[in-house]
Amino acid sequence: MLTSTETVLLKSRNDKTRSMAQNGRANARLFSQMEDGRSGKAMNQKTVRRILDTIAEMFPDAHCELNHSNPFELTIAVLLSAQCTDETVNRVTKDLFQKYKTPQDYVSVTREELEHDIRRIGLYRNKAKHIQELCRILIDEYGGEVPQTHAELVKLPGVGRKTANVVVSNAFGVPAIAVDTHVERVSKRLGLAAPDDTVLQVEQKLMKRVPKEEWTITHHRLIFFGRYHCKAQSPKCDICPLLDLCREGKARMKPGKPAKLTGKRVKGGT
Ligand code: SF4
Repeated sequence: MLTSTETVLLKSRNDKTRSMAQNGRANARLFSQMEDGRSGKAMNQKTVRRILDTIAEMFPDAHCELNHSNPFELTIAVLLSAQCTDETVNRVTKDLFQKYKTPQDYVSVTREELEHDIRRIGLYRNKAKHIQELCRILIDEYGGEVPQTHAELVKLPGVGRKTANVVVSNAFGVPAIAVDTHVERVSKRLGLAAPDDTVLQVEQKLMKRVPKEEWTITHHRLIFFGRYHCKAQSPKCDICPLLDLCREGKARMKPGKPAKLTGKRVKGGT
C-alpha cells in the first residue's frame, strides 16, 4: 500500500514521463530525418545519447538503494542482495550492521548465529558461509579492509563480477557498469544489447557505447528505469518516451500480438 506522499510522487513521475513521451514522438520524427544519409554507426551513437539523456531526465536522482555507510557494509549488502530485493536486504542490514561492524565481528560468532541473523534473506546459509570466509580473508590478507581493485574483489568468496563492479564504483569511485537483472532486461529491450547476449556481453556493449565517465550513473539510472518504469512484467510502454525506438514496446502495444518477453528473470536486486 502506497502512502499519500508516494502516490503523489508516483503521479508526478508518470505525468512527467507522459509529457516526455509526447516529446519523444516529436523527436522520433526528427531522428528519422537525421538518419537519412548517415551511417548506422552515427545513428546508433545519437540513439544511445538520446536513451542516456532520457533516462537521466526521468531519474535524475538514481543512486544505490542498498543502505551502507562504508565499503565493507556495501560489500556485505551487495553479497546479500543476490536473488533478493534491495528492500529485504535493507530491512535485514538495519539490525545486522548494528551488531556486526568489522570483519572480526562476523568471524567471532558461530555460523548458526550468523545464519539466524540473516535468515530472512534468500540463500542465507550459503551467504553466511561466504561472508565468514570473506571476512577471514579480509583479516588475514588485507588488514581488515576491503581491497579496492576489481581483480582482488572477484577473488573473494561470494563476490562475482557484478558485486565487484558495484563495490568499486560506489565505494571507490572507479567507473564501472554492474549488470543486474534490470540492467540486462532494459539494455536488451532498448537494443543496447542483443537478446541472446550473456551478462558479460551486455556489460561489454554498454561499456563500449556509454562514455566512461557516465558508466556508474548509467548503471543506477538503468536500474531505476527498469525497477520503476520498464518493469519485467508490466512495462509502462504506453507512456514511455523511448517507445518509438523500442521494438519490444512496439510489439507490446500492438493489439492481439503477443509481446516478446525479455523480462522473464524478475528476481534479484542490485
Ligand atoms: S519495453 Fe516499453 S517501457 Fe520498456 S523501454 Fe520499451 S517502450 Fe519503454
